[in-house]
Amino acid sequence: MKRTMMCGEVRAEDVGRTVVLQGWVHSVRDHGGLIFVDLRDRAGLVQVIVNPTTAAEAFEAASGLHDEYVVEVHGKVERRPAGSENPRVGTGEIEVHADRIEVLNPSLPLPFPVAEDVPVDERLRLQYRYLDLRRPRLTRNVVMRHRVFKYIRDFMDAAGFVEIETPILANPTPEGARDFLVPSRLHPGCFYALPQSPQQYKQLSMVAGMDRYFQIARCFRDEDLRANRAVEFTQLDLEMSFVEPEDVFAVCEELFTGLTETLTDKRVLTKPWPRITWQTAMDRYGSDKPDLRYELSIVDVSDIAGATDFQVFRGAVESGGVVRGLRVPGAAGFTRRQIDELSELAKVAGARGLAWAALTDGEPRSSFGRFLTEGQQSALWSRLEAGPGDLVLLVADAVSVVRASLGRLRAELARRLELASNKDVAWAFVTEFPWFERDEVSGRLTFMHHPFTMPYEEDLPLLDTDTLRVRAKAYDIVANGEEHASGSIRVHRADIQNKLFELLGYSPERIESNFGHILNAFRYGAPPHGGIAPGLDRIVAMLVDEDNIREVIPFPKNQSAQDLMMGAPGPVQADQLEELYIRLVEPAPVSS
Ligand code: ASP
Repeated sequence: MKRTMMCGEVRAEDVGRTVVLQGWVHSVRDHGGLIFVDLRDRAGLVQVIVNPTTAAEAFEAASGLHDEYVVEVHGKVERRPAGSENPRVGTGEIEVHADRIEVLNPSLPLPFPVAEDVPVDERLRLQYRYLDLRRPRLTRNVVMRHRVFKYIRDFMDAAGFVEIETPILANPTPEGARDFLVPSRLHPGCFYALPQSPQQYKQLSMVAGMDRYFQIARCFRDEDLRANRAVEFTQLDLEMSFVEPEDVFAVCEELFTGLTETLTDKRVLTKPWPRITWQTAMDRYGSDKPDLRYELSIVDVSDIAGATDFQVFRGAVESGGVVRGLRVPGAAGFTRRQIDELSELAKVAGARGLAWAALTDGEPRSSFGRFLTEGQQSALWSRLEAGPGDLVLLVADAVSVVRASLGRLRAELARRLELASNKDVAWAFVTEFPWFERDEVSGRLTFMHHPFTMPYEEDLPLLDTDTLRVRAKAYDIVANGEEHASGSIRVHRADIQNKLFELLGYSPERIESNFGHILNAFRYGAPPHGGIAPGLDRIVAMLVDEDNIREVIPFPKNQSAQDLMMGAPGPVQADQLEELYIRLVEPAPVSS
């Protein structure tokens, strides 16, 4: 190559060398007759100095430079004058004295500054993603993503996994979202579905005897976009034969502990990672993805509160609900306004209200004290392990409402009290999820993980009697309040799989047409198997302290699933539709 090294790689050892650099003009300044150019490439910045007396032609070229011009610089590496070093950049001890500058390509005026880390409207950033990606923060994120993927591939290879590609043009596999469909030209009226995950292929790879499969796989789910979800995302998909949950955990724990500690300066908070059942997570933290960087646990006080004359407590318990509370250490000084805000938050999560008490050395300030005897109050404080200086928050309602509202409050309080640090990663496994849940909208029985999940053997009889109590051999990986992976041990017997499909209300025709192939495969010696699929977008985002996964996806879609740079999705030519035997019905798509 013509260039001798990358801009960001020039070091003090190179002093005295003549170099050729190629890169982008990050900034250009005129200082007392000398022109200073910061030249940038993926590796970083280097300071170039152009002196009119020693390099007249180069000076003239430099005078015409603007931001983001692509230039070639020939020059000599010199040590910076004492006192003008910049320890914040790798090239901070040196500067390059240019004797020739050539513009390789100019740039139009920029839609937003690339050199400064200023807030820019996301629409604009996504429309000019190639400029956005030049910004150092985004460059860093993309490179980190690469490092994570590389670490994973090396680790999985060493652990005996084989990377197997699976089709993108596939058939529907249920993961709880809508399918993206692709019409077939060769088979009029038939459609492929893009994989919501390679779930069935990876299971079939186990039937094929591959033993340990992995893939850094793209998944497609046509869902209404919620924060931090994308219609197209990337997961580390893995599957193993002859395993129990702990065997899957061992791989994940070693991989993600090592990855966190090797690629970041973050600390893995608890080793080995805690294993918490779904039930405990919901009861103690009010969430199936608890943030375990802090404790702040929820405590049941139904027996004490239900026996008081306070109708809110008593009534909730009498109608089958619960009363639970949180002790917020040192928060007795919260103002009425702060408490009202918490109360609003509890209401958003479905609670009718929030009972509270601020404990002092004397009489507590409280919303319910007058309804309780002193003995009842002190029983409450001691159950909650609360003392002077603490704030106590209680919710009385149906168990699901109490979990949701106190879980919300727990997270909000941790934020306000700054209980969690981004330097910590509290990885954990949540286990023993329920197999079924009721769909909120239709009221129908549906799966919580996916229909290929094995129930606990001892719960199999409940399939006929009390389906909602059947536990699945399903597990999640969580960290810092986010779900990062879901997985399970699979059903490998056709009879159990069939029964689960039936309980889900799938007709025999649907079972046959959607799943006949996998049920059939299970009849040819399917090994017991299980796996998991960590979502890599969110994991990378956590590792680089980004809240939004779009910051770590090189070319993301916006919140409305559009690629603003490429203009996708977009209308197509009428003859393309005709070839596909597709006729559009109203409403016709609007081209933007
Ligand atoms: N296919 C599942 C998912 O995408 C993961 C698994 O069960 O392994 O969530």
